Amino acid sequence: MSNFADLGLSSSALAAVDRLGYEQPTPVQEQAIPLVLEGRDLIAAASTGTGKTAAFLLPTLSTLPRGTRGKRAPRVLVVSPTRELAQQIARTCMQIARKTGHFVTTVFGGTPYGPQINEIRLGTDVVIATPGRLNDLMERDVVDLGRIEVLVLDEADRMLDMGFLPAVTTIVDATPAERQTLLFSATID
Ligand code: AMP
Repeated sequence: MSNFADLGLSSSALAAVDRLGYEQPTPVQEQAIPLVLEGRDLIAAASTGTGKTAAFLLPTLSTLPRGTRGKRAPRVLVVSPTRELAQQIARTCMQIARKTGHFVTTVFGGTPYGPQINEIRLGTDVVIATPGRLNDLMERDVVDLGRIEVLVLDEADRMLDMGFLPAVTTIVDATPAERQTLLFSATID
């Protein structure tokens, strides 16, 4: 098994690994991180508990230039099926972002629109979202996905089971065709 320092991560991403307290990469991290750093698209069979969150966040934030607050549209978008999962991803992402210097915004349903809209308008680097609320914000012209460089579809199988195919299709279509796409799913059909 390799260690994090051999995978090609930036020094700030390695500092984030330290902060997270991870000593060795999990198998999905070991396999995914070098491919994501190369800019490759990825389909990975990985369920919750395998370390998949850091497998996509560490390499993505490792290479992403920092945005200027107030000027930037989001460049990384993570779509996840539930509010709980989005919040869990956001917790890991904010710990990494403390070291890499990125701004992170989480949007999900069941809460007022105002604070989420304000945060996006202030400018952010990474958006972590559930499909329904993100579609609402797109319809309200609050969020522009035209500068997305990396799109992560997390728990893609669950999003389909939950009937999010139309919402996810709208989101994918709003991102640039040349983006990098990372798809994580517990089952791959
Ligand atoms: P995930 O599959 O991304 O939901 O992660 C499951 C749990 O494993 C989370 O609590 C992570 O903090 C933890 N974790 C992820 N990667 C590592 C690692 N390399 N070493 C130790 N714990 C990890």
